[in-house]
Amino acid sequence: MRILAPAIALALASAGLRADDAFTPLREAMVREIAAMSAVTRDETGRAEFAAPVMAAMARVPRHRFVPPDETPYAYENRPLPIGHGQTISQPYIVALMTDLAQVEPSDVVLEIGTGSGYQAAILAELAQAVYTMEIIEPLAIQAGERITRLGYANVQARLGDGYYGWPEHGPYDAILVTAAASHVPPPLIAQLKAGGRMVIPVGAPFMTQYLLLIEKANDGSLSTRQVLPVRFVPLLGGR
Ligand code: SAH
Repeated sequence: MRILAPAIALALASAGLRADDAFTPLREAMVREIAAMSAVTRDETGRAEFAAPVMAAMARVPRHRFVPPDETPYAYENRPLPIGHGQTISQPYIVALMTDLAQVEPSDVVLEIGTGSGYQAAILAELAQAVYTMEIIEPLAIQAGERITRLGYANVQARLGDGYYGWPEHGPYDAILVTAAASHVPPPLIAQLKAGGRMVIPVGAPFMTQYLLLIEKANDGSLSTRQVLPVRFVPLLGGR
């Protein structure tokens, strides 16, 4: 499998197709794998199938453009990949699950903490009106910002900063996704979540079992929390 991906890419490229098109069958296979995995995890997640717009976004966004060149052949495998600075681009199934749980609507304004490669932000940009994303490691923030612009995602704004404190200027948000594991749910993020909004966040100690939580803020401001799945994320960094 490892050597098949570039072989297919080369074969299609020489047949006169754009290099991006060559990845389409691999991306479709990734989407099928996500669908199979969502069926298997239905009891834990409560979702046998992810929403069609989420799956369509997964089928559209070119994940191979978000990974370092030497990882390109593996871009559509259903696993996290290194992106430098000790960080990773999340597993595609987890990206789809978090996006599905956030129930993003076309009019939504979304905050993401942990830009990393910018891939999750791009998926959100396919579904939301506006996406704000924050990254604490400067070279990653710069790279992801440039990548997002290059790929034409005009509704995404990326900035360097400690996402623990959120981005209050553009809040409150309809949905907040945190893609690094925190020891607790950051109170500033709860404050920046709109009434009726949803937050998806992994919580737990680094290198211990973490749980993906779905937190919903009701219209009266009360919170309900559901533990969705055990997960493993890189830790949320920053001073507090
Ligand atoms: N969503 C990313 C993957 C994220 S990995 C993607 O789609 O590629 C988690 C990211 O969170 C890392 O890049 C890490 O540097 C960043 N991070 C960790 N702590 C942070 C903090 N306090 N504020 C903002 N970003 C943070």
